[in-house]
Amino acid sequence: MVLTKLKEIRDSQERRPRVSRDTLLRFVETRLQGSQLTPSKAELLEVLNSRVSSCTKCPHLARSRTQTVFGVGNPDAELMFIGEAPGADEDARGEPFVGRAGQLLTRIIKTMGLRRADVYIANVLKCRPDMPKGVSGNRPPTAEEMQTCISYLLEQVTIIQPRVIVALGATAVEGLLGVRRTMRELRGRWHSFNDVPLMITYHPSYLLRNQMLSEKRKVWEDMLAVLEQLEKPISEKQRKYFLSPNH
Ligand code: URA
Repeated sequence: MVLTKLKEIRDSQERRPRVSRDTLLRFVETRLQGSQLTPSKAELLEVLNSRVSSCTKCPHLARSRTQTVFGVGNPDAELMFIGEAPGADEDARGEPFVGRAGQLLTRIIKTMGLRRADVYIANVLKCRPDMPKGVSGNRPPTAEEMQTCISYLLEQVTIIQPRVIVALGATAVEGLLGVRRTMRELRGRWHSFNDVPLMITYHPSYLLRNQMLSEKRKVWEDMLAVLEQLEKPISEKQRKYFLSPNH
């Protein structure tokens, strides 16, 4: 509330404010600590985002990134999707899952009967893993990079308190649970992260590489289990998706 008000005041000024965003956030943080006010989840996320945006715990990534990629969506989301790390598109836009894999994730969310704005989307790593100069493409984050960054995601989960988390791919799982397993070993049962039920499914980029109906159906079955856990209605049409080429 306080932060929103201060932002309104700042935005209503014609001249730029003399107080920087960071100073503003530090002020709000101090006020919140000393007051009886309960900050909203959006305010807490904003304060955390400001810490993440100036993070230099991985100096090589702090040097190479365009910007940090914190997370996007509803601070009150019941459902959170977690990927491994931003790629080139996400690094450029400052938003997770906006490239080809992200567009597929958005389609999956819509097929579940939800909007992208209903859920919260984040990555284990908040910086794009660096690439050698002149080399395009993306690389997976290392275990060490993910270990260094995981506390930020833990804070995001603690603030948002989702009812279900979906981990996208084995690398994200390695970052979340510290175990390196195959998807065959990980899928098909509930796990838990910070006491929140965790469903593990394939990364959308796997589905882009492997267009087989059987693989799409596996991901869809994981999403049906998520909808059931969230006690959302599931139509007959939704239940049958990817069982035959007509669905
Ligand atoms: N892959 C991920 O794991 N995260 C993104 O944000 C984009 C692609």
